[in-house]
Amino acid sequence: MLRIVRFSINPSRISFSRLVTIEASKRFYSTVKQEMTLPKYKYVDVGINLTDPTFRGEYYGKKAHEDDTEYVLQRATEVGCIKFMVTGSDLEESKKAIALAEKYPGRCYATVGVHPCSAKTFDSHSGGPSQLLQEVEALATDAKRRGVATAFGEIGLDYDRLMLTGKEQQLKYFEAQLEIAVKVQLPLFLHSRAAGEDFERSLSANLSQLPKRGLVHSFTGTVEEMERLVALGLDIGVNGCSMKTEENLEVVKQIPLEHLQIETDGPWCEMRASHASAKYREGAPQLPNSVKKEKWNKNSMVKGRNESATICHVAHVIARVKGISTIAVCEAAWNNSIRMFGFGEASEKPKPYEGRVE
Ligand SMILES: [Zn+2]
Repeated sequence: MLRIVRFSINPSRISFSRLVTIEASKRFYSTVKQEMTLPKYKYVDVGINLTDPTFRGEYYGKKAHEDDTEYVLQRATEVGCIKFMVTGSDLEESKKAIALAEKYPGRCYATVGVHPCSAKTFDSHSGGPSQLLQEVEALATDAKRRGVATAFGEIGLDYDRLMLTGKEQQLKYFEAQLEIAVKVQLPLFLHSRAAGEDFERSLSANLSQLPKRGLVHSFTGTVEEMERLVALGLDIGVNGCSMKTEENLEVVKQIPLEHLQIETDGPWCEMRASHASAKYREGAPQLPNSVKKEKWNKNSMVKGRNESATICHVAHVIARVKGISTIAVCEAAWNNSIRMFGFGEASEKPKPYEGRVE
């Protein structure tokens, strides 16, 4: 029931507890009003691969349409996604991510690092591994100083794709890059597949020296793994790939809100009708129209190419799975992303370290 508060009352005559009640109900009703009218959702897409050729209009080496980054960002902005962290997956891709951050200041930010599947490039680098490590460090240091890089990554371990880079090389260069992240003092953007113990062991040796910790993006592990990562002070990134199966959804349900971040991982990780997430998409906001790449036009998404505008569906499903409001999911994820990566917003203090230190 709505209480009418008479403002002619001298506030100094109202007891403290009554003032608290009045303040709380004012906040509550303004939230209700917001939810009932136009919800003001605000998102950061913390994992978007805008350096992918498909955003230049190239598919399998063939040009299908013009570079449409501007329209992709515009469609995202219309659903409230206003900040984008562009993934760098090797030295060259990191440079491209930085170039996008320079082109779209205050909106796009880059990550700098070498993905575990590309870790073999350290050994094939013309100047040898130490030179590539130095170049990555110099790039990250300079881009951080200029405010265009907000994370070190994508680094980690991927034991599902050992055919791309072997275990030994992955582990060696993951640890070498963690040392760089500590030197440069950038929070981590992490990738982990089927590498549970090695991943956690390498990380816990370094995390106490990284006050902002990092994000394990595109999480597809078990509840137990997720809990151990959260105990290390890390956040968990959820996208369409994190919600393919019933087991995935059970994990998402258990992720503490204060450790959740949202991403699309576009152009990949599109949510499909065959995924377990599909039944929770009912009532989700209408997405922009999508057409085949041959029928490209600036107002449509491209079929099969995921983009940041779909982040509202990721948030919608997370909220339904958790049984809470979408605004609660958005606010928590936004605050966690800003606290960890900054993105030019007022940054808050890092969370207290709850994890194990070796
Ligand atoms: Zn990844």
